[in-house]
Amino acid sequence: MYSIFRSLAVLDRRNRSYGLKKKIPRSRDNVCSLCGLSGSRKFIPARAPVPGSLFSPIGAARAVMARRLERFCSPGKGHGLRALAPLRPGELLYTAEPFACTVSTRGRGSTCESCFSRKEKLLRCSQCKIARYCDASCQKAAWSEHKRECKCLRSFHPRIPTDSVRLAGRIVFKLLNYSSCPSEELFSLLEHESHIKEMSEEKKEGLGHLATMLQLYLKEEVGDLSQLPPGLDIIHLFAIMTCNCFTISDGELQEIGVGLYPSMSLLNHDCDPNCVIVFQGRRLFLRAIREIRPAEELTVSYIDVLVPAQERRTQLQNQYCFVCECQQCDTRNKDEDMLAGNEKAWKSIKDATPGMEKLQSQHQWEQVLSLCQTLVDNNQGILPDTNIYLLKMLDYTMDACINLRKWDKALFFGTRTLQPYRMYYQGFHPALGVQLMRLGKLQYYMERFCEALDTLKQAYEVMKVTHGVDHPLTTDLQQMLGECQAEMDRTT
Ligand SMILES: [Zn+2]
Ligand SMILES: [Zn+2]
Ligand SMILES: [Zn+2]
Repeated sequence: MYSIFRSLAVLDRRNRSYGLKKKIPRSRDNVCSLCGLSGSRKFIPARAPVPGSLFSPIGAARAVMARRLERFCSPGKGHGLRALAPLRPGELLYTAEPFACTVSTRGRGSTCESCFSRKEKLLRCSQCKIARYCDASCQKAAWSEHKRECKCLRSFHPRIPTDSVRLAGRIVFKLLNYSSCPSEELFSLLEHESHIKEMSEEKKEGLGHLATMLQLYLKEEVGDLSQLPPGLDIIHLFAIMTCNCFTISDGELQEIGVGLYPSMSLLNHDCDPNCVIVFQGRRLFLRAIREIRPAEELTVSYIDVLVPAQERRTQLQNQYCFVCECQQCDTRNKDEDMLAGNEKAWKSIKDATPGMEKLQSQHQWEQVLSLCQTLVDNNQGILPDTNIYLLKMLDYTMDACINLRKWDKALFFGTRTLQPYRMYYQGFHPALGVQLMRLGKLQYYMERFCEALDTLKQAYEVMKVTHGVDHPLTTDLQQMLGECQAEMDRTT
């Protein structure tokens, strides 16, 4: 029975960053790493790749990878990717290693900086005392990308660079050392547009601060600007990162890092996308989540879609500088459900949400539980579970209960989230798959095998599409299904 619960931790963690492309979160020193600087619209009419440039695509890799998709000019959006053939849900369309990536503040300490596995015990780099690895072989594998950074981290001590500064440092080192990078096969870093001209003075000022910090951080290895790769403008680089970085999350929706995957920068946003991005370690996988016709544009969601239309538009415009005109935003068809119930009631929950997020990030589970449960109980009969703010509270309550090992309660609150999840994460969505998996695990843990089997089967149906059958989480799930079946056979 224990083998399954080696990853019971799956129940402990979740957020919806999964597969989302989003800004880098605020860093510990409260200098906003990338957010607030907003980005520019990243998809602009193509500039031809510069022949023979450092960034020219790699023909051989392109031939292999481009079979199912191709770059095109998406009307009104600039660059885009579209299908070359009919695609089926679950079909793997693209996979890539990052051009550069780093474990983020949220993942630091619990994530190996080489393989991006989560572990409770990691070995620390004896020199910078910041980077952590599974073991000596992971450290050795990462040394070439950490070597120069390690010196900078040491000299920067006791300060710790923000996620964006650290990532920018890695990009600079990569460019200084440049040969070729398969992750640029469809879209090179050089082609990324910064749209700096369209930014407000305030945003430009923010980029300026980041550039200053980067110079300070890199001082040990890159003494002055003349040593930077020719033609590299640091502010321009930060502007590109702002709207093109991906949040790297583990299979369970937990943020662990940030990275740049240039070819995937071509993907445009839709609030009801036809593709999803999932990571295994630091490797990105793009999968179709519905039937896609040849020549149809491929889309992913850059943000959590569990937000009313107007708010989504604002978020997208602030960070990615475009107005979302997808069907969901135009029709606002889910807003009524999302904001159902007494307005005053949900507004007060909405206002309480940031405080709850903070407590959650500090693992103050007792407090989270008591506050959230009070809110949930007080709104019984006033707000339906489909109200997105109440739904968040149900989620927090479930998380807190799991962390406090209150399985019955966790299952009760978790079960209430399922119908709303099905409504908002229709079809194949990783958030639904993982939620089902967590509930199935709870049921299994409570020896409710019959229910567990049913829930886990549903989870599997979703995750074989969103994660793929080879993803470690899907194989774990499959194993759990087998053990659940065996338990049932044994008891009947
Ligand atoms: Zn490792
Ligand atoms: Zn180090
Ligand atoms: Zn939209």
